[in-house]
Amino acid sequence: MFQIGCHLSVAKGFAAMGETALKIGANTFQFFTRNPRGGAAKAIDPSDLERFLKMKGKNHFGVLLAHAPYTLNAAAKDPQVRRFAFEAMSDDLKRMELLPNNYYNFHPGSHVGQGIDAGIDKIARLLNEIMTKEQTTTVLLETMSGKGTEVGSRFEELQEIIRRVDLKEKIGICLDTCHVYDAGYDIVNHLDDVLSEFDRVIGLERLKAIHLNDSKNPFASHKDRHEKLGKGSLGAEAIKRIINNPYLKGLPFYLETPNELDGYAKEIALLKSYRKDEKEGK
Ligand code: FE
Ligand code: FE
Ligand code: ZN
Repeated sequence: MFQIGCHLSVAKGFAAMGETALKIGANTFQFFTRNPRGGAAKAIDPSDLERFLKMKGKNHFGVLLAHAPYTLNAAAKDPQVRRFAFEAMSDDLKRMELLPNNYYNFHPGSHVGQGIDAGIDKIARLLNEIMTKEQTTTVLLETMSGKGTEVGSRFEELQEIIRRVDLKEKIGICLDTCHVYDAGYDIVNHLDDVLSEFDRVIGLERLKAIHLNDSKNPFASHKDRHEKLGKGSLGAEAIKRIINNPYLKGLPFYLETPNELDGYAKEIALLKSYRKDEKEGK
């Protein structure tokens, strides 16, 4: 099954996101667990969730991806900032159990001058404080572009976080195609080599989800500006190869391209036309 969706607004609740997904031809979606600008998360309405879970079963949705606020920084130097990361993430993981067996993605963090190793240490320690044996959610580290002092733009850094996490069976990676290209992994001309490198350093079994974005900036720019599919430096042919790659095609794909809903609907239709198995009706 081609698991394809996009980022949707959580403002009107889960049933509304499910309906929107179906309307635009998606069978999964990504949503923010709370306002990225911080503050308390809205309580989940049980009847809304129940409606959504029914819809999810009936329509064979793929795995859902919750995204932590991108403003939280698990690697921060300031204890207050790390405290917010701890509270928001542990609360998110508790709430995710209302929607069991899905994924929770976060940006590992920025070391803000402390150095990569100090950043990695803080991120891993925070994960060890918030993850529990009982959780059904898999926590995903997102591959980053390396802008500023971001941790996680090299596969080695992500692997080092995983190595220090205790509950390894509950951790994985979300690969963002814009970010890795901006970080200097040439998925346009050497996709197979990049995936071999990923396998050698981290292990492909850790790869759980793809953020499918084109990039406004050139290769290795360390910028992180998403572009519509086929309109950026990755281009349509690279996107086609990515969604049909034998190691990637079974993963869920989430669009974070600069689009309104009609734009997402068009991109999803285009991607389905690119997929070899969709054409054969599998
Ligand atoms: Fe992200
Ligand atoms: Fe992303
Ligand atoms: Zn990005």
